[in-house]
Amino acid sequence: MAEETIFRKIINQEISTELLYQDQFVTAFRDISPKAPTHILIIPNKLIATANDIEIEDEALIGKLYTVAKQLAKQEGIAESGYRLIMNCNQDGGQEVFHIHLHLLGGKPLGRMICS
Ligand code: 5GP
Repeated sequence: MAEETIFRKIINQEISTELLYQDQFVTAFRDISPKAPTHILIIPNKLIATANDIEIEDEALIGKLYTVAKQLAKQEGIAESGYRLIMNCNQDGGQEVFHIHLHLLGGKPLGRMICS
């Protein structure tokens, strides 16, 4: 079974983090180490460790990550200029926290998709 991460404490507000969005399914907050002027993490409240662990029954939940991302992009004023949504998976994907999350990045031109 997957182990809880620091994100559980953020969802439960056991550590002080400003929440930009929360409902019974999804929570969003700013990345502690932003890689762009806007860098928000959108996560399911349910622990799913990696993209490999997403099940058919999670499809609506994963869709919700995107509708919340879209809403936050608008709120941040970057909907029209554009943004990038990324979910990293495991070592080669650069995943550090094993509770899936969508990175919402924007507020400047983000350049090439992958830096080699
Ligand atoms: P990953 O590399 O797993 O796709 O991304 C994990 C992200 O979580 C990183 O961008 C990292 O800066 C962020 N992060 C890790 N710990 C914390 C934390 O305690 N608070 C917040 N707000 N972000 C965190």
